[in-house]
Amino acid sequence: MKSPIWHPYAHLKTQTPAPKVSGGQGACFTLETGEQLLDATCSWWCMIHGYGHPRLIQAIRDQAGELCHVMLGGLSHEPADRLARELVRITPAGLNHVFYSDSGSVGMEVAMKMAVQYHRLQDKPHKHRMLALMKAYHGDTAGCMAVCDPEEGMHGLFSGYLPQHHFAPAPTAAFDADKADVHHDLQALRAVLERHHHEIAALLMEPLLQAAGGLNMTSPHYVKGARQLCDEFDVLLIFDEVATGFGRTGKMFAADHAEVTPDIMVLSKGLTGGYLGHAATLATGRVHDAFIGDSPEHAFMHGPTFMGNPLACRVALESLAVFEQENYLDKIARLSELLRRELCDDTQLRQHPDVVDVRVLGAAAVIETRCADNLEGVGEFARRHGVWLRPIGRWLYTMPAYITTEEQIRRITSTMKAWFQR
Ligand SMILES: *Cc1c(COP(=O)(O)O)cnc(C)c1O
Repeated sequence: MKSPIWHPYAHLKTQTPAPKVSGGQGACFTLETGEQLLDATCSWWCMIHGYGHPRLIQAIRDQAGELCHVMLGGLSHEPADRLARELVRITPAGLNHVFYSDSGSVGMEVAMKMAVQYHRLQDKPHKHRMLALMKAYHGDTAGCMAVCDPEEGMHGLFSGYLPQHHFAPAPTAAFDADKADVHHDLQALRAVLERHHHEIAALLMEPLLQAAGGLNMTSPHYVKGARQLCDEFDVLLIFDEVATGFGRTGKMFAADHAEVTPDIMVLSKGLTGGYLGHAATLATGRVHDAFIGDSPEHAFMHGPTFMGNPLACRVALESLAVFEQENYLDKIARLSELLRRELCDDTQLRQHPDVVDVRVLGAAAVIETRCADNLEGVGEFARRHGVWLRPIGRWLYTMPAYITTEEQIRRITSTMKAWFQR
């Protein structure tokens, strides 16, 4: 019998059978047939330490022996408390409060609810819409779909079902653009704010790297300018660092490149090293303290069952300890250098008629092609080379685990390039 599993983003008529994964070690996972695949995606960007990491496994085992789960309503526990303190320590100064949830989408829902309620508590109930960017991806729940790119964001068919928000053009200046080069992008953002600020609660962005929207990269100057605009128009700034957090852009957080503190910041994916689903929504004192008051409206009415799950918090603490003790930022810098040499510096690749652009930022690299047809069959092709690649639309990318060896990175990049030379 065919498996009853309904796979994500799958076209049921054309999908190929999903092979079963039985285990994994380092950057590779193993299929039940014994076939080994080098994971160029680190499983949707979360398995930053790779598979089978002994310290992460041990942390889960130890915690399982003590406490697997308890509600966070009215109760607390050591792993949740310690992790919250660690997150406050490593995130930009001022983010001093941590609200847990169980996935990136829910973490973003929490952030948006927080922003709307914040303004309501400031007697500005008309500030109840979001301002998002084109090419944005913030998750698949209804609230999140409504702030994804409404044209290319996979959710166009739900437009009648979703609340209406505002959108500004996606930034176009490159990561290393000068301050003057972001002027045009910031003017576009300003134009929307000038017209609609009276009803905008928050500006949402995936800082520096719009990930699922095609690895669109932009400059820290843009992020800084956005912070200033938010202050000018009394709009909260929410950073969705679900994908960029924990080193992906070359610093611990994308916010660190711009030395900007958002009002609210969302973390997930790399938070637990991918070993368990979890998320954290951090808020500054300004946001948090607005909720101190006497009316019933001052309580933040949200509470996912599994928020602060002890196993997830414990493995997140271990993941962070490994990240810092083993100098992951240095590893990421080396990966980045290598990705740049292998992909950006390859003139043959850049000049290929199907290729529009090649970009690298931190441990993320993408070959942008003209249309999705240019990548038809690339997954099967890569698999024959022992590599797991899964393009998004017309973007062929890699976001490898940070422990991926130099030899393995070359195998990933040479497979990506071989597709265009075949
Ligand atoms: C993956 C992702 C999300 C959604 O996270 P889930 O855990 O899949 O719900 C939100 N924002 C960004 C930037 C993401 O990459």
